[in-house]
Amino acid sequence: MATNQTYEHPRMIELIFASHNKNKALEIEKKLASQFKIITLDDIGIHEEIVEDGITLSANAIIKAEFVFKKINKNCFADDTGLMVDALNGEPGVFSARYAGTEKIDNNNMDLLLKNLTGIENRKAKFVTAICLIYQGVQHMIEGELHGRIIDEKRGNYGFGYDPIFVPDGYDITLAEMDMDEKNKISHRAKAIEKMKMLLESLSNNKS
Ligand code: IMP
Repeated sequence: MATNQTYEHPRMIELIFASHNKNKALEIEKKLASQFKIITLDDIGIHEEIVEDGITLSANAIIKAEFVFKKINKNCFADDTGLMVDALNGEPGVFSARYAGTEKIDNNNMDLLLKNLTGIENRKAKFVTAICLIYQGVQHMIEGELHGRIIDEKRGNYGFGYDPIFVPDGYDITLAEMDMDEKNKISHRAKAIEKMKMLLESLSNNKS
C-alpha cells in the first residue's frame, strides 16, 4: 500500500482499491503476488464516501469501481460483502453493515439477527464477497463464498462484523475465535481475492 504520493515502480502493476479501509488493503496486498501494488482512495487524495445504494452486492461493487474509474481512468477494483441467512430469505445481505440501523454497530446487528432467528432451527448462512475489477478498461465480476451456520450466542474476540456468531462448515469455532491468518485462509474475501489474483495474472501475462 502506498504511504505517499509516489507510486512508480517499474515492474509493479498498480491497482486502485475503491475503499478507505487500510486494513483490508493490507490484507489484499498480502494475498496478491508481489507484482501488484494496492493503492487506497486516501492514498490518492479521494476522501469522499461513495454512496452505495445498489440493491445487490455486485451492484455496489460496480458503483464503487466505476466511480473511481470515471474519476481517474486507472486499473481499479471494489468489493462488497454481505451475510445471507437462509431462513431469512438471504437477509441481511446487502444491508449487512446497517441491518440494525445507519450507525452500523456490529453488536446491534448481531443482536437483531439472533432475535430474528429465535426459535428457528435452520441456521444455514453464507458470507458472499463480490468484487468488481476494472482492468485495462474492461469490467470483470468475481465472487467468493464462505458457508456455515449462525449460532445463538456470541463467541470470540477476533475479527469484526458477524464473526462471533458465524461457525464455518467443517469447524466448531466461530470466525471470531480464529486468528486473522486462519480466517484469511478460508474467508469469502480471501477466496474472491485469490480468484482476482489468478485473473490478474492471466490478464497481465496475455498482455505481455
Ligand atoms: P463490507 O462490504 O466489507 O464493508 O461489509 C459489509 C458488512 O458485512 C460489514 O459491515 C459486516 O457487518 C459484514 N461483514 C463483511 N465481511 C465480514 C466478515 O469477514 N466477517 C463478519 N462480518 C463481515
